[in-house]
Amino acid sequence: MTPPARLAVDGGRPVREKLLPYGRQTVDESDIASVVETLRSDWLTTGPKVQEFEAAFSQVAGAAHAVAVSNGTAALHTMLAALGLRTGDEVIVPAMTFAATANAALYVGTSPVFADVDPDTLLISPASVSEKMSVRTKAVIAVDFAGQPADYTALSGIAASRGVRVLADACHALGGSWDGRPVGSLAEMSTFSFHPVKHVAAGEGGAITCDDEALAARMRAFRNHGITTEHGRRTASGTWFYEMDSLGFNYRLPDINCALALSQLGKLKQNVERRQQIALIYDRAFASIEGVRPLATRPGAAHAYHIYVVKLGLECFRVDRAGFFRALKAENIGVNVHYIPVPWHPYYQRLGYGRGSWPAAEAAYERILTLPIWPGMTDGDADSVVEAVSKVAAAYAR
Ligand SMILES: *Cc1c(COP(=O)(O)O)cnc(C)c1O
Repeated sequence: MTPPARLAVDGGRPVREKLLPYGRQTVDESDIASVVETLRSDWLTTGPKVQEFEAAFSQVAGAAHAVAVSNGTAALHTMLAALGLRTGDEVIVPAMTFAATANAALYVGTSPVFADVDPDTLLISPASVSEKMSVRTKAVIAVDFAGQPADYTALSGIAASRGVRVLADACHALGGSWDGRPVGSLAEMSTFSFHPVKHVAAGEGGAITCDDEALAARMRAFRNHGITTEHGRRTASGTWFYEMDSLGFNYRLPDINCALALSQLGKLKQNVERRQQIALIYDRAFASIEGVRPLATRPGAAHAYHIYVVKLGLECFRVDRAGFFRALKAENIGVNVHYIPVPWHPYYQRLGYGRGSWPAAEAAYERILTLPIWPGMTDGDADSVVEAVSKVAAAYAR
């Protein structure tokens, strides 16, 4: 057997010369042309591109309505605001997610209650949701972790009889589906982000999808100060009159961003397919590397692979996750960690959430690594990730 190659972290030659980021937008000339056309038009914000984008987006997401807002966090806030929740109400969210999912519950004056996740998929565990449910529970926000839909069938079964709303933070999963039904149509309302590392880049941007007309109308008002008539319609009807009917925010998404998002949306299908191809390269390679295990995919799920996450079998290695992370970074692989359990953040610690109540999420956190996946990556880029992971795994094998 040849001795393992010297790791870059120990002064060896890195697998790549340049850092491969974990995520990156793919913007082409047609995207640029779409933005330029809007810059030359009469509307920089709240013009025709918003409605055009919302119409196209609701089609892709399989929902009757899409409401565009300024980012994914605003989408979560807007979604919860539309439900008219009150202080004392509880919203269940997974412990393993981006902080914004839980923060949104605080924005509307409710308390986030953290549920644990399934250890193999890191999707919210319906059994844990069931345990955390109380008379104060008004909604559950499932997160389609990494890009596959959560178990909405099980969640609806638990929630429906108690009048608890099932909502989706689908920011990872645009372009995915379950049982042939697109993400965006699997929960009563679903939120999306158009941050550059997500499936559709708008710079910043977000949206909520739903089938209910009244909810959509409330969300359209909320994104515009709570004003019930939008500027475009006011101009069209030639009237100065408007009314602020509830307390809203300025969460409008400019036409400039919508023009980019609209152009990007046309390439969603091919970009998700490319993400799936890269995931397949990784899945195949890691099947023969001991101690490197991809997250499980539920049967029936079409995975949109916002991120590609592996769990390290720490018993197989002489280093912990931090050691593995440092070594891959030195090989110029842009690794990341999604996520630190939200209740562990100092802000939530000060609110009294403590540690130890989410064994699967907390154990997973010590073992997870996010590897690069984005549509502009070449097969060669993916091979270099595999090579670096094998190199590090071999060098640190017990
Ligand atoms: C990206 C993301 C958000 C927030 O989206 P922004 O557009 O960055 O505000 C919320 N939840 C999850 C799970 C995300 O991945």
